[in-house]
Amino acid sequence: MQLSRLRIIRERLAARYGDPILEPDNDPLGGLIETILSQSTSDVNSHRAYADLRAAFPSWEAVRDAPQERVAEAIRHGGLANIKAARIQDVLRAITERLPAGENPTASLDGRFTAWLGAMPVAEARAALKSLPGVGPKTAACVLLFSLGLPSMPVDTHVFRISQRLGLIGPKTSAGRAHEEYDAVLPEDMVYPVHVLFIRHGRALCRAQHPLCRQCPLLDMCPWGQRQVET
Ligand code: SF4
Repeated sequence: MQLSRLRIIRERLAARYGDPILEPDNDPLGGLIETILSQSTSDVNSHRAYADLRAAFPSWEAVRDAPQERVAEAIRHGGLANIKAARIQDVLRAITERLPAGENPTASLDGRFTAWLGAMPVAEARAALKSLPGVGPKTAACVLLFSLGLPSMPVDTHVFRISQRLGLIGPKTSAGRAHEEYDAVLPEDMVYPVHVLFIRHGRALCRAQHPLCRQCPLLDMCPWGQRQVET
């Protein structure tokens, strides 16, 4: 993966879609739960399930300690409600166990989680998140980037597909390995723009089925796309 190529790709995609600006929400626990809710469903459904969950319980401690059926009922619009309710409660219990006692053990769970993660170097924070039940590299990267503004590249389905087509990663590179390659190469200020621009490009032109390569500003540097337009 070459940084010089990535810079050109970012410039061309930014010229087409606009350059995104990162505005972290400083709510990593909310971001983590929202990411769990987003698995295997649409953005609309997962946002609704998250809003319903926040409205149904006064705190994350209350979600953690509620009967699982009540949590599942609250998030039913997000699909796989029973599975996701169990995952959410497992994660909240694991976080409760791992948080250091600290100076203010009576502070809220989300406040203590934010302080705990925010005090770590990014690699350590990533490892801490990945050690939680059901949290893989993409979820960890989403929480670090979107909630805390820390440089960690989430490789979702669009990023992975475009990276393969452009030859940024090898054909046999796993998504887990792709996370590591991006994190090793991308400078801090490029992580968010490249992530968001790849998603916009994946939705607009570089779709999984029937990509619109002839309209693509990256065609001259995309071996996969050039094969498509030649056939
Ligand atoms: S040329 Fe085609 S395959 Fe390559 S990045 Fe553009 S749309 Fe995707």
